[in-house]
Amino acid sequence: MTALRSPASLPGSSKVPNGDRGAPSAGFRSAPGGLPGRLSRVAQLLARLPGVGEKTAQRFALFLVTAGEDTARDLGGELVELCDHIRPCIRCGHIAELDDDGRALCAICLDTRRDGALLCVVARVQDLLAIERSGAMRGRYFVLGRLLSPLEGVGAEELPLEALRARVRDPEQPVREVLVATPPSVDGEATALLLARELGAMGIQVTRIASGVPHGGDLEFADQVTLGRAIEGRKSFG
Ligand SMILES: [Zn+2]
Repeated sequence: MTALRSPASLPGSSKVPNGDRGAPSAGFRSAPGGLPGRLSRVAQLLARLPGVGEKTAQRFALFLVTAGEDTARDLGGELVELCDHIRPCIRCGHIAELDDDGRALCAICLDTRRDGALLCVVARVQDLLAIERSGAMRGRYFVLGRLLSPLEGVGAEELPLEALRARVRDPEQPVREVLVATPPSVDGEATALLLARELGAMGIQVTRIASGVPHGGDLEFADQVTLGRAIEGRKSFG
């Protein structure tokens, strides 16, 4: 109902002031302030975006129907296209566009200048983008999608370990080193330990980003220099 479990949610973005965010779509004949129900529906959808509160969502919706009709039409069309053409990369989980054969391979996996022997494991696409901004990572990536969480009952079986093992063993791109860049939180460290054990048993060198990113911090919000140093200063692990 609340649809607020997106990993992209920013801290503090999960306000549900009036508790009506999850109202069903039917029955929007009128809205507070006499606004059309359709407009209210768009505002409610916009309010689901991370970091967007109800007032901002209403401002966006009003702009789209008053001053921004072209933007509204372009946005609507592009969002439909996005859902039809964008998928997780089949090799790493990054965002990718389907090719003519219906395969999704991201630009990083297709970039032949990348060091295929170095694989950086991250929790989320946002972390991958943060590391890319630092410019310190010349290898490729693997996005886990979630972290091990002993407190929340997320066990190893819920992580894509088999896909990661297959990726590491890929004869076309043999991996020599796996850099674990999960966040320096309890769950991030637990995941790093699990990966060190699993991959170490396969004879892969496992390294961990160096300290510098504050404990409990989010890679997404670490500055580029700090993140770059954390990657360059990585240490053997496990
Ligand atoms: Zn990829």
